[in-house]
Amino acid sequence: MKKNVILIGKSCSADNLYSILQEDYNIIRVNSTDELIENYENIFKNVNAVVIDYPEAVRNDCEFLKKAQHDGRFAFIPLLMISVTPQDEKQLSCLSYGVVDFIDEPFQEVIIKNRIENAIKIRDSASFYEIERMLKALPSNIYLKDADGRYIFATHYWHHLDHSNNPDWTIRGKTDVDIRKDKENAKMAMEKDMEVIRTGKGDSYIIEINADGILEYFQVYKEPVTDEKGNINGIIGLLNNVTEQEIMKRKLKSAAIIDGLTGLYNRKEIQSQIEKTICESRKTGSTCSVIMLDIDNFKHVNDFYGHKQGDMVIIGLADILKNNQSSSEKFLAGRWGGEEFMLLLHDTEISAATYIAELIRQCFANTTFPDIRPQTISLGVTQLRADDTADSLCIRVDDGLYKAKKQGKNRVCVV
Ligand code: GH3
Ligand code: MG
Ligand code: MG
Repeated sequence: MKKNVILIGKSCSADNLYSILQEDYNIIRVNSTDELIENYENIFKNVNAVVIDYPEAVRNDCEFLKKAQHDGRFAFIPLLMISVTPQDEKQLSCLSYGVVDFIDEPFQEVIIKNRIENAIKIRDSASFYEIERMLKALPSNIYLKDADGRYIFATHYWHHLDHSNNPDWTIRGKTDVDIRKDKENAKMAMEKDMEVIRTGKGDSYIIEINADGILEYFQVYKEPVTDEKGNINGIIGLLNNVTEQEIMKRKLKSAAIIDGLTGLYNRKEIQSQIEKTICESRKTGSTCSVIMLDIDNFKHVNDFYGHKQGDMVIIGLADILKNNQSSSEKFLAGRWGGEEFMLLLHDTEISAATYIAELIRQCFANTTFPDIRPQTISLGVTQLRADDTADSLCIRVDDGLYKAKKQGKNRVCVV
């Protein structure tokens, strides 16, 4: 496809140049810079270069050139000038107003065409660096890598990169494994890069980076980039620091499943864990048991010592359950309501569950609270049966608890 070149001017020189270039270029001729600006919308479609004739360039003390320097519509388009001999001062000042090359008469076709082509090439690569410089103003990190995962550029050298403070240091040519402090993530990043190169499909994910003792989360987007022939020859990536949002998301997620007073799972979560475990048991043939427990005569605690002290007793019991939870992966504890708790024991037969229930009962009975006399709990224990649903299991264990209360409290009842 022919490149589009705007030729500004109506002198004989402009006519001569036109006749030389018209075969190889799509020349858009305008008589003056005013005409160019007036018809900008119609003229500026994929313009590759502008050639301006001397009289137009220097008119009104180079007014057009001065303005064009700061006019975004002319950004990234090389501006060449038909020069006159001898080269006067006015003409030379045009170079300082953004003219990139002079075209002299007598015109020699080969020289002129090469000068135009070179100006376009130089401007294109200059645009690349100008874009890079502009991208640095964004808070995101934008980077380009070649097909071997070597960086071509990155807009920011963040702290999780191991780089020198020398302003001459460059990321160019280095890989993630070469320069990242979080080597595991670096390896994963390179594997993901290779996947994008191999499949031609972009990817996006959130990574946790822990470098210099700072925990951060980053949203990563990667897309393949192609050369002019459509072959994948690299990756463009976008990295956003989403630490605040991610921490908030994790807090909300945790708030949805954790009971505020005790820090144990809430009823909804322990219920859903019981359902999941029953499904798993059906598939694998494993078993599970549940324990339900309730503080005895707790109304008295509240009435006698006050609600705040009552809370301390609930928290004291929850701490015992938490200790059990953190010492065994099989043990999950949730607050079922008020001062009532549900425990889920994976891969645990009734005998082991009863033993654990008894230990918890004793542990709580021996717990001392400042200014409150020791309290007791009652517990029901049961094991999953073949025809159980989550509901039938919970109803049965509740029944066990009820029986323990009826039999005099401070005891374990197996059902
Ligand atoms: P029982 O031995 O039969 O269990 O007798 P109880 O007095 O403990 O009776 P019940 O379990 O029905 O009473 C629970 C009481 O717990 C009633 C309610 O006021 C109190 N409660 C529920 N939630 C909280 C809480 O978060 N903090 C405090 N301090 N009290 C609570
Ligand atoms: Mg009670
Ligand atoms: Mg109760």
